[in-house]
Amino acid sequence: MAKRIPDGAGINTRLAHGGNDPHDYHGFVNPPVVHASTVLFPDAATLASRAQKYTYGTHGTPTTDALAQAIDELEGSAGTIIVPSGLMAVVVPLLAFLSAGDHLLLVDSVYFPTRKFADAMLKRMGVDVEYYDPRAGAGIASLLKPNTRVVFTESPGSNTFEVQDIPAIVAAAHAGGAIVMMDNTWATPLYFRALDFGVDITIHAATKYPAGHADVLLGTASANAACWEQLRATVNALGCCAGPDDVYQVLRGLRTMGVRLERHQESALAIARWLERQDGVARVLHPALESHPDHALWKRDFSGSSGLFSVVLAGAGHKASHAFLDALGIFGLGHSWGGYESLAALVSLNDRTIAKGPFEGPLVRLQIGLENVEDLKGDLLRGLEAARRVG
Ligand SMILES: *Cc1c(COP(=O)(O)O)cnc(C)c1O
Repeated sequence: MAKRIPDGAGINTRLAHGGNDPHDYHGFVNPPVVHASTVLFPDAATLASRAQKYTYGTHGTPTTDALAQAIDELEGSAGTIIVPSGLMAVVVPLLAFLSAGDHLLLVDSVYFPTRKFADAMLKRMGVDVEYYDPRAGAGIASLLKPNTRVVFTESPGSNTFEVQDIPAIVAAAHAGGAIVMMDNTWATPLYFRALDFGVDITIHAATKYPAGHADVLLGTASANAACWEQLRATVNALGCCAGPDDVYQVLRGLRTMGVRLERHQESALAIARWLERQDGVARVLHPALESHPDHALWKRDFSGSSGLFSVVLAGAGHKASHAFLDALGIFGLGHSWGGYESLAALVSLNDRTIAKGPFEGPLVRLQIGLENVEDLKGDLLRGLEAARRVG
């Protein structure tokens, strides 16, 4: 008996039941965690033809299929690859679609390791890498060249939260014969369904909200029908696959991602609004705030906001920003995000060429976790007081 989830079911219903069918595996609610390299074939003819569903561990198992199918259902994609980190989920699509002599347009506010990969490796392989303004919108048309193969987007931008006009970029890129990839980690498929906006490949660091507990590294990239075969063939050619326990943990995380995100969203908005009124804060960079320069664009395209945003400390220098961070007790100082715990990190924009501000002071990125909002406000107040004392 297959599960019967109606087409119009709500997001939490779909998260609870997506992916595997319990009755494919004796009725157990969760799929098996299949640890696999070798898969046996029943006879010589099947061995020769490889005509069975599973053929080797690198090519997928019931565990990876369950997660890939759950993501496909959320994204509306033709297929999803599962790779060992979010960065790999960026790297594999770029390797799949770029060749020597191609031109890549990469948004200047991109996640820094994506930039490092493009500068260190794609350039060496003969790809012409060009950075563009996250607010280029339809103006991207003037940057397209006959050999532009990929326009890479990330919205909102890493650390500075510029919102890109994805439909305008998609229209221009497609008219020029390029495909569009999007690192959609911040919004998750719950708050932005990238393929519905014409994006060809949507990418997630599943390390963040899907995993949700700061204990797993995983990435997914989901393609529309036109791009799926090339993406799938590339990940297989690379022999790139993720460990079954990590895959299982992310599927487990997905079940609660909707309710966790609701809380991250609500707490982050409450704290962002409150921070805007505090002494020592020049600006809060959160696209769901009315004060954000791209708020209208965010409101037009996104159906929610997650728990990550930045604050600009007013008039504070380097020393004051360190005093702010050192006074925090609940917020951990560290990278990554999407877990249950609050984090703070200093932002450096030194490597950018376009999306550099100006900002009134140091930038601190905050991930608002699942703790009580009043406790987090108290922690931030201690930080702001410490920054003031240093001046
Ligand atoms: C964290 C992150 C990644 C990389 O994910 P890892 O699993 O840490 O490699 C990619 N893109 C964005 C936007 C991220 O925040």
